[in-house]
Amino acid sequence: CGIVGVVGHQKAESFILEGLRRLEYRGYDSAGLGVIDRAGKLHRLRAAGKVQALADKIPAGLGGTTAVGHTRWATHGAASDDNAHPHMAGRVLVVHNGIIENFKSLREELAARGRTFSSQTDTEVVAHLIDQEMQSGKDPVEAFRAVLPRLQGAFALGVLIDGESSFIMGARKGAPLIAGMGEDEGYLGSDPLALSGHARRIMFLEDGDMVIIRKGAIEAFDRDGARVERALVPAETSH
Ligand code: GLU
Repeated sequence: CGIVGVVGHQKAESFILEGLRRLEYRGYDSAGLGVIDRAGKLHRLRAAGKVQALADKIPAGLGGTTAVGHTRWATHGAASDDNAHPHMAGRVLVVHNGIIENFKSLREELAARGRTFSSQTDTEVVAHLIDQEMQSGKDPVEAFRAVLPRLQGAFALGVLIDGESSFIMGARKGAPLIAGMGEDEGYLGSDPLALSGHARRIMFLEDGDMVIIRKGAIEAFDRDGARVERALVPAETSH
């Protein structure tokens, strides 16, 4: 239902929680985040219920730098801790808004290759597909780009890779997603409200776009995987 992400922050988990609280008005049943701390260690925390239930699970003094977070409005699978996002396979963490319409056939294909699933969501296949491409030797960007054409339905995605605190990735098709740039941070969000007061400039992605967000640089690719320039516009200063 709601997505927020950040690269190069001093306290990424606080930014994510604030963003998720701002998106509460949209309605949701669970919340979660994946965050890489200063020592490079990944933490995944998820909770059915309110954002506060997630906040209560975050270790004090975590000091994350790079993170993605999500408020879930369940479409496939009950509202439980295990179905809350991010979903993971190998080093890949995925948050997702919308529905992957062909998840059943993708899940069968992945299961036939020996992959096991830990949720009932349509989302989890995306993490496995990206991980599968990485296992076959692709870097995370190439892997994500290879997977996107396989996904049917309307979706916005945020991707964090364990061990990679220098970037996060996003993609949208039939669901909103924006990227943002701060003084020294990069941002991802499903709604400008989540980034308001943080991002100085906003990039509105076009349908089918994929983005790589780094500190101080955003690279966009269109639905054909071609590098494209999207305008970075000044963010609203009031909300
Ligand atoms: N279809 C996904 C799920 O049920 C995402 C739902 C959402 O947009 O929050 O987990």
